Amino acid sequence: MNKHDSERVAGMLESMGAVSVDSIEEADIVVFMTCCVREAADTRLYGQVASMKNVPLRSGTPLDKRIVAVGGCIGQRDGQKLLDALPHLDVVFGTHNIGSLPHLLSASVNEGKRDVEVLDASSSFPTDLPSHREHSWAAWLPITIGCNNFCTYCIVPYVRGREKSRALEDIVAEAQRYVDAGVKEITLLGQNVNSYGRDLYGIPRFAEVLDAVDATGIKRLRFATSHPKDLTDEVIAKFGTLRSLMPALHLPVQSGSNAILASMNRRYTKEHYRGLVDKLRRACPDIALSTDVIVGFPGETDKDFEDTYRLVEEIGYHQVFTFIYSKREGTPAAKIDDPTPHEVIQKRFDRLVEAVQDHAWKANQADLSTTVEVLVEGSSKRDSSLLAGKTPKNQTVHASIPSGLSIEDLRGRFVDVKIDQAKTWYLSGEVVDGSIHD
Ligand code: SAH
Ligand code: SF4
Repeated sequence: MNKHDSERVAGMLESMGAVSVDSIEEADIVVFMTCCVREAADTRLYGQVASMKNVPLRSGTPLDKRIVAVGGCIGQRDGQKLLDALPHLDVVFGTHNIGSLPHLLSASVNEGKRDVEVLDASSSFPTDLPSHREHSWAAWLPITIGCNNFCTYCIVPYVRGREKSRALEDIVAEAQRYVDAGVKEITLLGQNVNSYGRDLYGIPRFAEVLDAVDATGIKRLRFATSHPKDLTDEVIAKFGTLRSLMPALHLPVQSGSNAILASMNRRYTKEHYRGLVDKLRRACPDIALSTDVIVGFPGETDKDFEDTYRLVEEIGYHQVFTFIYSKREGTPAAKIDDPTPHEVIQKRFDRLVEAVQDHAWKANQADLSTTVEVLVEGSSKRDSSLLAGKTPKNQTVHASIPSGLSIEDLRGRFVDVKIDQAKTWYLSGEVVDGSIHD
């Protein structure tokens, strides 16, 4: 969601006549887009903005003075506090008024104003703003904003507001525009896409969104994120039937202990979660599952952690994003005392990370000697003679760029790759002759 917001900020800046530059010294407008889900990013932002005073503006840039703005979740939460703490900061905006950035910047450039504009909620779904997509072949498409779930550790509902769905016709129209422009992959976005439509239509209509976006002719369709309590049989069945829906699902479990899940207000049990996984694998035997796990939630005992460890082992995820619990002021969990020493939590975390790597390696072995369709994203960061791209299951693939071709001939197109090596975090192989296609 943050990346998508940033693409919209870039789009608005471009439509004001700004151009992007390669180094911060050349940038007379700098916009920080922020996240406060965990403390580390939060602290870093204050340091990063403060350090801007040490980065001189190269002479000859159009404005002669650098304008620094902070937007997104920290802007929303801290507002004026940011301006008070950071003398080099000019503009603060929040999550509900990205569209205000042009007038705030203009006031700062023309009148030297330092200004904060943060709204409590948005009156409309703010997606008709220009956007500069990072990749021409892929698009994020928000279908809901905000969240009503109030998981007890999470700050998102406080900084992004209540869940608001976007009209189905608008979603389909935007998807169709992308398909007509040659976009190959759309990722539908929402804090919990499964509850899409409840506020607008009284019932969730996410399965209909999937059908309607598939009908635009998009090649690859994905979505994030899915709350297990709201994942319906109807949506699960789509993994077996819908042409464009890729066989990969991010289904955050957070914990494998029913006591901790209850204390997190997740409103499902590990048995329910396991049941969902069984159904998903019945609908789509090859589906690649990924998840999020929080280690060290207040009150987590060794036994609770063992339950999580065992669940992760049982399910055998392709990828697990592991987080050490981070206390967020204002959330209910911040009030729960926990005497567990940090070293104990760190040990649990390290054990889990090791298991996660083993499972990721094992899961990738299933693709050895198969031929997979890869959407090429660019060249490999480590070796520019290799292309890098993604499989339907969202695994990274490396393969030699076929002779006589450059990466520009392949970027945003599909190739088939015969896999001959399966590592923990990537697969590699050879491009099948004559397999380049759109
Ligand atoms: N709406 C999505 C994403 C929420 S934030 C969802 O429900 O899945 C992404 C992840 O950050 C969460 O899944 C959770 O694992 C993690 N997270 C959120 N708050 C956290 C906190 N206070 N400490 C540690 N991890 C947290
Ligand atoms: Fe946070 Fe829970 Fe909402 Fe996800 S569903 S954004 S974890 S409150």
